[in-house]
Amino acid sequence: MSTTKRCYYETLEVERNADDSTLKSAFRKLAMKWHPDRNPGDPQCEMKFKEINEAYEVLKDGDKRAAYDRYGHAAFEQGGFGGGAGFGAGFASSFSDIFEDLFGMASQRGRGTGRERGADLRYNMEITLEDAFKGKTAQIEIPVSVTCEACSGTGAKAGTKPKTCSTCGGAGRVRQAQGFFTLERTCPTCQGRGQTIEDPCPSCSGSGRVIKERTLSVNIPQGVEDGTRIRLAGEGEAGLRGGPPGDLYIFLSLANHEIFQRDGADLHCRVPISMVTAALGGEFEVPTIDRGKTKVKVPSGTQTGRRFRIAAKGMPVLRSRQVGDMYVQVVVETPQNLTKKQQELLAEFEKLSSGETQPEAVGFFSKVKEFFGSRASAP
Ligand SMILES: [Zn+2]
Ligand SMILES: [Zn+2]
Repeated sequence: MSTTKRCYYETLEVERNADDSTLKSAFRKLAMKWHPDRNPGDPQCEMKFKEINEAYEVLKDGDKRAAYDRYGHAAFEQGGFGGGAGFGAGFASSFSDIFEDLFGMASQRGRGTGRERGADLRYNMEITLEDAFKGKTAQIEIPVSVTCEACSGTGAKAGTKPKTCSTCGGAGRVRQAQGFFTLERTCPTCQGRGQTIEDPCPSCSGSGRVIKERTLSVNIPQGVEDGTRIRLAGEGEAGLRGGPPGDLYIFLSLANHEIFQRDGADLHCRVPISMVTAALGGEFEVPTIDRGKTKVKVPSGTQTGRRFRIAAKGMPVLRSRQVGDMYVQVVVETPQNLTKKQQELLAEFEKLSSGETQPEAVGFFSKVKEFFGSRASAP
């Protein structure tokens, strides 16, 4: 083996006098970080991971650690303590078992007792723009699995008790010697519970959990946006065998509004006005999101598409005192279904019209004229 190897203590980022539990947690932390499954195709990570494993395999064993402390890496070279071949092929073959074991433990909080955190739940809720404006308290009913009351979550029929698992003696884990290693894994008989149930509880069929409709009150704050996520800690599924419950996430989506379009804190609406109002000027009322009304004054000669801003009539900003604005865009409506009389009046109006009344059209057509003129004069 190479003598340029890194010191095992350095590899595990611990002090030379680190105790077993420090070593163990340092190892677990690093192994998680450098695990090849998490860094697929990265040979450096794999090397690093091997290093970490090797260091831990030595330091966790009192005898080997003492030898290492005394002789360094030389202790494990050919002819040294325990024979150096141990970290060769045999090591690699046990890799997958270690991974499995390591990750089995990691995903299962509170190992050994079989306790498992309940799953997180997602609940999709559609709310209206007015709800987002005012905020509201919504009552929702969700089916969640909760701890069975009949058996208090033990899974054993009332009056009976779960028995200590004979395979693992209640530890929930079994040790298995495999070549160089002793592997610890979840007990196959009790699945880590440490207990077996002979008379399962009839209410939950021994699972310790039942499905119940639960009514929850959800507080939707003012100014929420489409996609806002609200977390209700501990309102997810019940944990297994006394484990903590998961969380409930409410995903909000905003329904389209008939009048208003939202753009962040601002609201937009389009209002059709008559040609005459646009020409002569006037005033009209528009609804506001707070179910009130506000007046919009249009000056004479207003063109279609013009926007009018109404301050502070938009949406509240989440967790702030700010309020957006409302924009009213006017769309001039060309009159349709005219009576004979109306047609005559408009024709008369047209006769009286001059460049003054249609400055934009005059400007445009003079540009058109120029355009053709310049082309005609070209050789
Ligand atoms: Zn039960
Ligand atoms: Zn067991």
